[in-house]
Amino acid sequence: MSDTSTRDTVILGSGCAGLTAAIYAARANLKPLVLEGHEPGGQLSITTLVENFPGWPEGVQGPELIENMKQQAARFGAELQMTELVSADLSKHPYVLDLGPGKEPIHTRTLIIASGASARWLSLPSEQALIGHGVSSCATCDGFFASGKEIAVIGGGDSAMEEALFLTRFATKVTLINRTDRFRASRIMMERATAHPSIQLLSSTVVEEVLGVEQKEVRGLRLRNVKTGERTELPVSFMFLGIGHTPNAKPFHGQLDLDPDGYILTHGNVFVTRNGRDVPGVFACGDIQDRRYRQAITAAGTGCMAALEAEKFLEDHGR
Ligand code: NDP
Repeated sequence: MSDTSTRDTVILGSGCAGLTAAIYAARANLKPLVLEGHEPGGQLSITTLVENFPGWPEGVQGPELIENMKQQAARFGAELQMTELVSADLSKHPYVLDLGPGKEPIHTRTLIIASGASARWLSLPSEQALIGHGVSSCATCDGFFASGKEIAVIGGGDSAMEEALFLTRFATKVTLINRTDRFRASRIMMERATAHPSIQLLSSTVVEEVLGVEQKEVRGLRLRNVKTGERTELPVSFMFLGIGHTPNAKPFHGQLDLDPDGYILTHGNVFVTRNGRDVPGVFACGDIQDRRYRQAITAAGTGCMAALEAEKFLEDHGR
């Protein structure tokens, strides 16, 4: 038995995975503390209509879905805190979480890491202003809204190729814009994209501005050819970013096994390791450990698994 100031369960992240873990952990009476992180609500909070989350036949707004999950978790006793983890010491149990200067460190018996992966953006003010109004980082989520429209996809890797190919189901024309003339995508994906009659490749080109901020909808892109300096306008109604994701695993570098791109490696869905050995009571769920599916429902699924494993760990170790 441990002292009462030590938490049973702390959950990092308040996206779909973290909040599902919170609902399960709270219903198991673990009184979880959720540290909401630097993007509260995760990627769903910056999307619009979610049409593929089971149970919502007419779809649901991403922020509403997240708000409902928060309320559901809070109803069973989860505590949510608008704060971010700075570093974690996972070398001895109970684990110590550092929240930065002037804040009390938190001790916890189990830790559920659901800090997600952030989509990369171009970071143009016009792009940021139009997120959810024609600018999207998720083709699966928002592709349907591009039906019958001409659109652009940014990037030259496999994600961009995959998004462009997927979006040809909806859009009448897809312009794929890559900042260099070297494409990172695998040969097979490149061949598929170049062979597709609705996809046009534009290389050595950068987006300088997304047009339509005043109208609150994407009206086009102002482009610059980096070789010639020539500026052009491309009339499109949507811009999809396919320039990769960054996993939010910084506090765990050197503490947990990560893949070469910084995603947390898991086995048995949610178990994490350090130098190949399990780290007892620490679990990872959602996009921080899933670069393949990246869906709200799969994140929720692994969030549930992580909470059930945390509960089992606490039972097995005399909570
Ligand atoms: P990558 O890192 O492979 O590619 C990112 C692309 O975005 C590059 O073309 C890069 O350009 C470009 N980019 C990055 N930042 C910017 C920026 N600020 N402005 C403009 N362009 C930018 O990421 P992916 O997500 O495509 O792939 C990640 C991994 O996942 C890869 O290993 C990939 O193979 C795999 N994957 C596999 C899939 C499949 O097999 N079906 C599908 C999706 C991903 P630059 O080259 O100039 O840096």
